[in-house]
Amino acid sequence: MLRGYSERIEKLIKAFGRLPGIGPKSAERITLHLLKQDRLQAEELAQMISEAKANTFFCERCNNLSDQTLCHICGDASRDRSTICVVEEPRDVASIERSGVHRGLYYVLLGALSPLEGVGPRELKIDRLMKRIREGEIKEVILATNPNSEGDVTAMYLAEVLKSFGIKITRIARGIPVGSHIEYVDQVTLQRALEGRTAVV
Ligand SMILES: [Zn+2]
Repeated sequence: MLRGYSERIEKLIKAFGRLPGIGPKSAERITLHLLKQDRLQAEELAQMISEAKANTFFCERCNNLSDQTLCHICGDASRDRSTICVVEEPRDVASIERSGVHRGLYYVLLGALSPLEGVGPRELKIDRLMKRIREGEIKEVILATNPNSEGDVTAMYLAEVLKSFGIKITRIARGIPVGSHIEYVDQVTLQRALEGRTAVV
């Protein structure tokens, strides 16, 4: 699409357009906004992105985003180590934390099973979750993947492979609209869904 911008500006618009939730119009607006700002403001933003990226890791226990090798939840001795909540993304951890219901730990799959997109159990590092359960401290696994087809398939798969451990396996209750994402669910609904979780095996 020719818009009369220089090649360098077009490249920046394209780069913003590749970000989630940003269409071509928004990408153009963001780029022009940044270029109109004074140099210091734009440089500050660039530096913040660069520093956040250089200092963010996936927690070595749960895959949550963290600025240390162990995230603040895994490192918190007051958390209940007998319950582990399995979610798809770090932003789901943030949602559930805001609801205040879950006092246990997490395991972040960083996705959901999707054979069409080539995401299988290995890509989701499910073996690491099983290793944690084998350590013996965990008494309940709460399956809090999204209530859509991929999230449900993932939960069913996990229930199947985890049932041999003889621990409690629960799925968050319905009440979260089918097809929605945990990150968009309001806190009260999420609290009810967690409290009303039901055993799946
Ligand atoms: Zn962690």
